[in-house]
Amino acid sequence: MQVARTIQEAREQVKQARSSGRSVGFVPTMGDLHRGHLSLVGRCRELADYVVISIYVNPLQFGPGEDFDSYPRDEDRDLALAERAGVDLAFLPSDRELYPGDTSVVVTPKRLADRLCGLSRPGHFEGVLTVVAKLFGIITPDVSIIGQKDFQQAVLIKRMVADLNLPVDIEVAPTVREEDGLAMSSRNAHLSESDRGYARRISRGLAEAVAAYRGGERDAGLLERRVTGALGTGEELRVEYVEVVSAKDLEPVARADADTVIAVAAHVGGTRLIDNIILDRPDPDLEKALHNWRA
Ligand code: AMP
Repeated sequence: MQVARTIQEAREQVKQARSSGRSVGFVPTMGDLHRGHLSLVGRCRELADYVVISIYVNPLQFGPGEDFDSYPRDEDRDLALAERAGVDLAFLPSDRELYPGDTSVVVTPKRLADRLCGLSRPGHFEGVLTVVAKLFGIITPDVSIIGQKDFQQAVLIKRMVADLNLPVDIEVAPTVREEDGLAMSSRNAHLSESDRGYARRISRGLAEAVAAYRGGERDAGLLERRVTGALGTGEELRVEYVEVVSAKDLEPVARADADTVIAVAAHVGGTRLIDNIILDRPDPDLEKALHNWRA
């Protein structure tokens, strides 16, 4: 595995791969790699000949008071995991390399960012889209794999690519979960054992809503109540939102269909957690967790 720290090095490596006729796949990450990230790499290897990962904690997407400074960073561990997963090139730029001076052009999303996570994290998606656009400009991938776990982010990246005619295919990969159903996240490390008990309610609630949907329930309000009911009203788990929305435009729906998403954000012991399900899209790890709960 090659490691590039400058834009020029990354471009040279990608150019070499292309000159031997290889297609290029790309997985952007903020590091602290876990099985969720590695599943994106695995899918990327199926779709492209040459796999690039970026590891960069992007200051632009963190708001004041968020966890930019405490975000876990362990370069040696990440590089070892990336290499074992079959990554060909790891791109680890410094802040100076990516943002050398005054930035006067950024990618600002419109309405799609003014809902769900965008409400509590103003400017977050502008930071995400700006860095992803820059990374696409550097790596010039044929395909990029993004996790469904960050659903609004995935929708916005797809819309950016469509609206700005960027020459890259986006594939959204399913959420990888812990055995108890909790969606894998770098932030899970902050949860105490009792927090974990509360955090688990999020995926349980989503699973209950899916079961109700499969049983024929289509009323969005009732599906939402399945989730809020499972989350409870205690202080230990503070709900930020539970929303039943269209997967296309994130607008709330009254009746659920195959293209409906239920998205949740909640705070447990100081940690903000998000999760979601698309009603008719298989979520293999949620099925496994359901099986474990019943056993
Ligand atoms: P992050 O490092 O948190 O910025 O995430 C980098 C990429 O990994 C994003 O596309 C995320 O959606 C994806 N990702 C994070 N957690 C998971 C997970 N549990 N399952 C699948 N993909 C994930």
